[in-house]
Amino acid sequence: MLWSYYAYVFELCLFTITNGFEKVAYLAVFHVCFVMFAWTYWKSIFTPPSQPSKQFHMSYSDKERYENEERSEVQKQILLDIAKRLPVYTRAASGAVRFCDRCQVIKPDRCHHCSLCEMCVLKMDHHCPWVNNCIGFSNYKFFLLFLTYAIVYCVFIASTVLQYFIKFWAGELPNGHAKFHVLFLLFVALMFFVSLMFLFGYHCWLVAKNRSTLEAFQYPTFHNGPDKNGFNLGFSKNLQQVFGEDRKYWFIPTFTSLGDGHFFPMRFLSESRNPLLASEEQCEDGGSDEENYILRRGDPSVTIELDA
Ligand SMILES: [Zn+2]
Ligand SMILES: [Zn+2]
Repeated sequence: MLWSYYAYVFELCLFTITNGFEKVAYLAVFHVCFVMFAWTYWKSIFTPPSQPSKQFHMSYSDKERYENEERSEVQKQILLDIAKRLPVYTRAASGAVRFCDRCQVIKPDRCHHCSLCEMCVLKMDHHCPWVNNCIGFSNYKFFLLFLTYAIVYCVFIASTVLQYFIKFWAGELPNGHAKFHVLFLLFVALMFFVSLMFLFGYHCWLVAKNRSTLEAFQYPTFHNGPDKNGFNLGFSKNLQQVFGEDRKYWFIPTFTSLGDGHFFPMRFLSESRNPLLASEEQCEDGGSDEENYILRRGDPSVTIELDA
C-alpha cells in the first residue's frame, strides 16, 4: 500500500504527468480511493471478533453437574436443559447441542471456535491471514467493504496508469526511475484485481444467500436436519442483515449489521416471533418445553417466548 501510494502520487502524478488539470484530478480521486481502502482495511484488522455473551457460558452449578457426570447421554441432556433457556436453534450434526469444550460455552447459532484466535467467534466466517484477524459478526461488513475498495483502488490505478504504461513501453517518455514504478503499478494493480475479484464474487454470492464461508462448506443443522437455506430470508433482507436498513451507511465502515450476533432470523421463524423485531414483551402460555424457547437478553425483564 505504501509503495503504491509513493509510486502513484510521486512517480506518476508529480514527476511524469505534465498536464496540470489531469494531475489535480487524478490526485483528488486517488486520495478518496486510498482513504476508503486504508480505512476499511484498518477496521477489518483492528475490530476484535465478538464472543458469546455471559448467558451462553455455563453457570458454576451447571458446570459442576456436567463435569461430574460420566454418562454421555446425561451430559447431553444437561446441555439440552441449559440450551432451552437460550435462543439456540442449530445443533451439531449428531443432533446434540453445540458446546465448546475449550471455552465452556453453549455455542450460539452460527458461532464457531477459531483455533488460531483461541476463542468462540460469533457468526464466524473465516480466519483471514491477510488481515490477521477473524472475520465474523463484528467485522464482516468491514471486510466486504475492504474487498470493494481494494478493487476500486486497483481499477482506478490500472485505468489511469495504462496510457503512461503504453507511452513508456513505446519509448515516448524518457527512461528513468519513474518508468520502473509505472510499469509495476499496472502489473500489481491487475494482479490484485484478478485475485480479489474471485474472493469478492464468492462473498457477494454468500451475502445474497445469507451464508458464511463455514456454512457454505458445512450446512447448519436444525431440528429437522441440515438446511443450507436456514438463514436465507431473500436477497434484500439478506443484504440488510449485513449492511443494515439505512442505505446511506452501506458504503461507510461503521457497524450497521442487524442483531446482536447471538440470534439470527430464520426462514421458518415468522417475523412476529423474531425477538429482534418484536418491540414488546411477549408472554404466551401453552406449548411444551420442547416447543418453546425462552430468550433472556441483557435486560432480565425482557423475556420472550418463541414457538420453534
Ligand atoms: Zn470456543
Ligand atoms: Zn480466528
